Amino acid sequence: MADQKRLVAGNWKMNGNLSDGLALARGVAERAREPHACDLLICPPFTLLATVGEALAGSGVALGGQDCHPAASGAFTGCISAEMLKDAGCTHAIVGHSERRHTCGETDADVRAKTEAAWRAGLVAIVCVGETRVEREAGRARAVVSAQIAGSIPDGANAGRLIVAYEPVWAIGTGLTPTTADIAEIHAAIRTLVPNGTRILYGGSVNPKNAAELLALDEVDGSLVGGASLKADDFWAIAQACD
Ligand code: PEP
Repeated sequence: MADQKRLVAGNWKMNGNLSDGLALARGVAERAREPHACDLLICPPFTLLATVGEALAGSGVALGGQDCHPAASGAFTGCISAEMLKDAGCTHAIVGHSERRHTCGETDADVRAKTEAAWRAGLVAIVCVGETRVEREAGRARAVVSAQIAGSIPDGANAGRLIVAYEPVWAIGTGLTPTTADIAEIHAAIRTLVPNGTRILYGGSVNPKNAAELLALDEVDGSLVGGASLKADDFWAIAQACD
C-alpha cells in the first residue's frame, strides 16, 4: 500500500437533484466531522458541483468531477473542461470510467487526453481501467488492464496527480466482485506500471458488507464506490472499514 491514507471516493453517476443531492452531501459532511482514517471524495453530477461543494466546505471531503473534455474551452456543446471543474472547486476528475469507455466509445487515447487535461488544470486524475466478463473468462484480465494503463496514462505521471481505479466492468453495479486474490493480482500488476506511491483503488459493487474484506487487502489503497455512495450511512460505513 502507498504511504498515504486510503481514499474512499463516491461516484454519484447521473443521480441526484438539488434537494436530495444537498441532503446527501450534508449527510456525508456531517459524518466526516467524526474521526476517520481515510481521505474522502465525492463526485456528483456537474449540475450539483457548486451546491455539493458548498455543503462540503470545511468538512475535509474533497470534490471531484466524473469526466472532463480534453480542451480547455471551445465549441464542444454539452461538455465540461477540466478548467471548469477546477473553477467549480474540484480537486479530482474521474476519467475513463467504463460507462464512458463502453457506452460513449471512449478509447485509451481519449482517456489519455482527458488525463492530460486534468493535470493541465491542476486536478488529480482518477484513471479507471478494467476488463469485461468475456476478457476475464478468456484469461485476459491482466493483459487488458495493462494495455489500458499503457494507453491511458500520459508521460509525466506521479503519485501526486495520478490515482488508478481498477474496476472490472462485470463487477460494476452487479453485486459481483472478483476474489480477493484476483484483486490483489491485478493491483500488483498495475503497481509495476505506475509511479511509486500511486494510489490504486478497487471499484465494483463495494458495499458496507464487503468493504472491510476488500479494504484490508494490502494492495488496495481505497475504493471508488458507485451505488453505495448514494446513501450517506452506507458511504460512511465503507469509509469506516478503512479504520
Ligand atoms: C462505479 O460506478 O465506479 C462503481 C464502482 O459502481 P458500483 O459501486 O455501483 O458497482
